[in-house]
Amino acid sequence: MVDVRGLDVSFGSARVLRGVDLRLERGRTVGIVGESGSGKSTLAKVLVGTVRAASGTATVDGVDIVAADRRAMRAYRRRAQMIPQDPYSSLSPRRTIAQTLAEAIDPVRGRVATHEQLIGEWLVRVGLTPEMMHRFPHEFSGGQRQRIAIARGLIIDPHLVIADEITSALDVSVQVQILDLLAGIKDSLGVTMMFISHNLAVVQRVSDDVVVLYQGEVVEAGPVEQVYADPQHWYTRRLLDADP
Ligand code: ATP
Ligand code: MG
Repeated sequence: MVDVRGLDVSFGSARVLRGVDLRLERGRTVGIVGESGSGKSTLAKVLVGTVRAASGTATVDGVDIVAADRRAMRAYRRRAQMIPQDPYSSLSPRRTIAQTLAEAIDPVRGRVATHEQLIGEWLVRVGLTPEMMHRFPHEFSGGQRQRIAIARGLIIDPHLVIADEITSALDVSVQVQILDLLAGIKDSLGVTMMFISHNLAVVQRVSDDVVVLYQGEVVEAGPVEQVYADPQHWYTRRLLDADP
């Protein structure tokens, strides 16, 4: 359902993605690993439509978002959601959780009263309570905020969800809770997921497939168990050897 071919992205003279090829099957989770600056977040941003590629194709459910015009992109953006590392960036400090979620559901007329039922259900789904919808983001813990960010990303029923380092700011026991929560919801919705992390153990826990990025290029891709057991590229071997 996601088919990326020959994707190139440059910022000024810096080529950040170089001929990236990638396929994601519906309902599967692909982990993206690679060192800082290798282009992981840039790839995510192309797929949610906030960074434009210079060339190549990126077809998601039949829409090539590299070639799409503005109108097609507006419609597309609802189908692909990013859950950010810092949940504050998807939660407005001056809006209650209910207001933020209502606006996610309907950016034009997003009234809390209309969507209260659905919002309450989603808060329960991510392990919170419906009454919490009237609170503001600062009234939650980091792990709870990340739960809300997951609800914010998934409540509009996207086809593709991209989690970009969503647990790196959390302590280990909370990381596991959030990862298991996300994996459970993802399976129940049948959504396709891209999971970005520098933590190889975390990637192994949630991913079916893995893609290794090195300096903007895909150097290895395949089922996660296979790649971890028998890495073919020297950089993948180095990553795995360096993992505690
Ligand atoms: P990290 O693991 O640190 O999050 P990453 O793999 O997500 O790294 P990217 O954020 O995709 O890396 O960045 C890849 C490269 O592109 C970096 O060298 C970065 O400085 C550069 N870059 C990213 N966004 C921009 C931008 N808007 N303008 C200019 N350069 C950018
Ligand atoms: Mg990044």
